[in-house]
Amino acid sequence: MPLKPEYKVTLLGAGGVGKSALTLRIISGQFTPSYNPTIEDYYRHDTNVEGVGQCIVEILDTAGTEQFASMRQLYINSGDAFALVYAIDNLDSFLEVKEIYQQLVEMKKPEELLVILVGNKCDLKSKRTVSTQEGIQAATQMKKCPFLETSAKDGTNVEEFFNTLVAAVDKKARGDEK
Ligand code: GDP
Repeated sequence: MPLKPEYKVTLLGAGGVGKSALTLRIISGQFTPSYNPTIEDYYRHDTNVEGVGQCIVEILDTAGTEQFASMRQLYINSGDAFALVYAIDNLDSFLEVKEIYQQLVEMKKPEELLVILVGNKCDLKSKRTVSTQEGIQAATQMKKCPFLETSAKDGTNVEEFFNTLVAAVDKKARGDEK
């Protein structure tokens, strides 16, 4: 039997935007409201992704705080695909993903750059400070990368986000094999 393909996806973004909560949703389908600032968490997720099939996805849930910004270089070097996560109730986190994108562009060749832009906490409608339109616009500027608004809390679009990212890496890997 052929080995399952293995892909590395990395979640980048400011602290507190919900990277760990999204990861937990993907891994276990659950949400816990407690907040534990992440330094770095790594998961091997053996899963079946729509359009891809059985595969192993290594998920790196990274530190968001600025003191760890230098570690970002390491994450960027070793990742296959990146989710740039902000929270729709946090304008600063939206500005930060734009900065991270610039860092990605500087470090990766254009053909190597796989990104999805994620506006998390879309359940917090009354606290929204970043509009959906602004998210769409930012994604367009990021070489028309996919964009989704998610909620780790109620599960909105979490599976779609994960599937889109893994399908993109899978497509690229198959293209590279040819
Ligand atoms: P990280 O630092 O980016 O990993 O953020 P966490 O996953 O630790 O989440 C930070 C806080 O936001 C926690 O209190 C979470 O419960 C909360 N949170 C995460 N995702 C959501 C969401 O989609 N909706 C709401 N309302 N809260 C969320």
